[in-house]
Amino acid sequence: MRPDRPLLYRVAGKAIFLLAFTLFLILFYYNGEIWLRAVLLYLSAAAWARTLVTQLPLARSVVRRFVAGESIDEALSASQVLNQQGMLVTLDYLGESVNNRDEAFIARDEILRLLDRIYQSGVQANVSVKLSQLGIKIDPDLARESVRQILSRAQQYENRIRLDMEESALVDSTLGLYRWLRDEAGFHNVGVVIQAYLYRSEADVRRLVEEGAWVRLCKGAYAEPPELAFPVKADTDANYVKLMEMLLSQTARQNGVYLGVATHDEKMIAAAKAYSQQEQIPLDQFEFQMLYGIRPEMQQALVAEGYRVRVYVPYGTAWYPYFMRRLAERPANLWFFISNFLRR
Ligand SMILES: Cc1cc2nc3c(=O)[nH]c(=O)nc-3n(C[C@H](O)[C@H](O)[C@H](O)COP(=O)(O)OP(=O)(O)OC[C@H]3O[C@@H](n4cnc5c(N)ncnc54)[C@H](O)[C@@H]3O)c2cc1C
Repeated sequence: MRPDRPLLYRVAGKAIFLLAFTLFLILFYYNGEIWLRAVLLYLSAAAWARTLVTQLPLARSVVRRFVAGESIDEALSASQVLNQQGMLVTLDYLGESVNNRDEAFIARDEILRLLDRIYQSGVQANVSVKLSQLGIKIDPDLARESVRQILSRAQQYENRIRLDMEESALVDSTLGLYRWLRDEAGFHNVGVVIQAYLYRSEADVRRLVEEGAWVRLCKGAYAEPPELAFPVKADTDANYVKLMEMLLSQTARQNGVYLGVATHDEKMIAAAKAYSQQEQIPLDQFEFQMLYGIRPEMQQALVAEGYRVRVYVPYGTAWYPYFMRRLAERPANLWFFISNFLRR
């Protein structure tokens, strides 16, 4: 049984939350979701907020809605369930922006172990990695060598690795390393991610179409300035549809492009379905991708309609920034967090 926490601690905890809740209401009243999203994205990168939130006793139970567990075993069990429901999986060992080489080596070793365990278990899953998790911000050569080792292990198992896309400052280095891995190091089991909110993405997609790349298209989850990214959601959505059609075009498919349409947005999904039907694209030539715990009923409905669906399953203890980005995407999730807290 959990020992009772001291009264002062409980009262102080609730006071902090009520304050945060009041701030939430004020922000929502004046500027709605835009401000709230900016605040949550700021908090996702703030060390003081990480310390505060990760120490909250209830945080772990709320996070379990979006994260499959802390260990490889838990991640593989969640993946097995999804496989049984007809879905493919991408596994993600949580972690980003490591501070030193040791943390980068720990992440590399865990991902290598994960690849071994996927192979041994027979689970249908590939793996996503973040280059900042492998130390690209402290030493690009270190990240390059680690990702080379990871791709080599994945190749042994005929598995694939996707380089997640992080904040805009890392886009050039991520695409650069992707091309080095494919063209210089000779790996064909590596893919990238394109974010529709960036103005540059159309030019990036044009090049990836020529190269016949393996691409995940998402809207983008980081705080970006209006000089680099569409500040208005409707513009990001319009760009998403445009890029999706470029990546599903006949030329793209003939060049070898395989697209992951990564979104929970009904309008984006409907646009992808309409375009694929209009162009008579076979259902095995692209896939829908969604995050673990988000709109599971929609994931299952797509499977029932015969579409390929892949669920991105994160696991590990470094859940804080991932969790905060999920709150920012849908501030209603904040109610879920707060109501759980007040109920305890
Ligand atoms: C498989 C996958 C991989 C991704 N990889 C990356 C990456 O590498 N880099 C990157 O920057 N971003 C990545 N993202 C995140 C992405 O950029 C968006 O931030 C996220 O998917 C929300 O956008 P949306 O397309 O779902 O549309 P939105 O317009 O944000 O959402 C549409 C609807 O989906 C539901 N929804 C969306 N998000 C949530 C949520 N968190 N909780 C509950 N409901 C929600 C809501 O009902 C919402 O109204 C990835 C997303 C997916 C699905």
